[in-house]
Amino acid sequence: MPRPINFCSGPAALPVPVLQRMQTELADFAGSGISVMEHSHRDARIVSLFEETESLLKSLLGIGSEYRALFLPGGATLQFAQLPMNLLRAGACGAYLTTGAWSEKAIKECQRYGDAVEVASSKASSYTEIPPRSDWRIPDSACYFHLCTNETIHGVEWFGSLADIEIPVVADMSSHLLSRQMPMQEFSLVYAGAQKNLGTAGVTIVLIRDDLAIEPQASTPSLLNYTNQMANDSMVNTPPVFPVWVLKLVLEWVRDSGGVSAMESRNQRKAEMLYAAIDQSSLYQNPVATSARSWMNVPFVLHDAKRDVAFLSQAEALGLLNLKGHRSVGGMRASIYNAISEDDVQMLIDFMREFERTSA
Ligand code: PMP
Repeated sequence: MPRPINFCSGPAALPVPVLQRMQTELADFAGSGISVMEHSHRDARIVSLFEETESLLKSLLGIGSEYRALFLPGGATLQFAQLPMNLLRAGACGAYLTTGAWSEKAIKECQRYGDAVEVASSKASSYTEIPPRSDWRIPDSACYFHLCTNETIHGVEWFGSLADIEIPVVADMSSHLLSRQMPMQEFSLVYAGAQKNLGTAGVTIVLIRDDLAIEPQASTPSLLNYTNQMANDSMVNTPPVFPVWVLKLVLEWVRDSGGVSAMESRNQRKAEMLYAAIDQSSLYQNPVATSARSWMNVPFVLHDAKRDVAFLSQAEALGLLNLKGHRSVGGMRASIYNAISEDDVQMLIDFMREFERTSA
């Protein structure tokens, strides 16, 4: 049987060439005779690994020396807290746009450290759209504006411009960084867990622009102080070396596959194919407004929920794995990150059509 296709939202599919390189190079990192996990992080080879990963990531994203890329522990969830600890000043607030489950969590966590104001929310529509820009009310006291540019659970993606926002813009790009070209210059700080489009759990990427004013709250642990991490090149303590190595292999795969513009064309085609198949069917339905449909996470429901169990078991028997939707929204979800090919998506569509035809 061919290798299964993993549509999991994260930890997600890795490109097979990356898995093969990991296997080949695991026991002997850079000709040293020992594995990447066994080196001191002060070893010149590991210091170079971090430097090269930072520079490759920045070059793929089209950003230069005005940004630092940090490789930090704690997942994107820790960033929900680390961000206000570092950016929220006395008398100021964080301004949050709520477009789904992940931005809900971000604002809740901020409230533990200071004042957080919701500028708009699409909760009333069950997070099937992004509130129109004209409805956002950003308070004068806000010292940053936060949004999640791809809501992994609700399948809602931001495609607009934030260039008119005058305060620093911060984005959780966990589930679509490197999936398409983003106007990176509009963002002062970006964070993303690695385990979707970028590698394996254990490292979180934080991009910080040099003009961002950072004044950590006095109680901020030194490990969580962005300035301290920048000064120590992400090595305030023993860093997650193995996931950074996997990240570098994934970045090299993206570069060798044509870079982010090639990912973007492919991802757009994949998403169009899948949404078209859903829209044309009378069994499947995606509830998200067309302009906000995520290219990475495609949730859909079966009109007849009694067929859900059969759908999932038949899919799994064919090697189409992890299509069950998040428990909070139900139904199905296909996560079609960079490592999922157009052929993989076509196989899913073929299965969905066949299931619709035969399961009535
Ligand atoms: N933000 C988004 C958009 C996510 O999809 C996730 C994970 N699914 C998180 C934050 C939390 O990430 P982690 O598990 O790495 O803390």
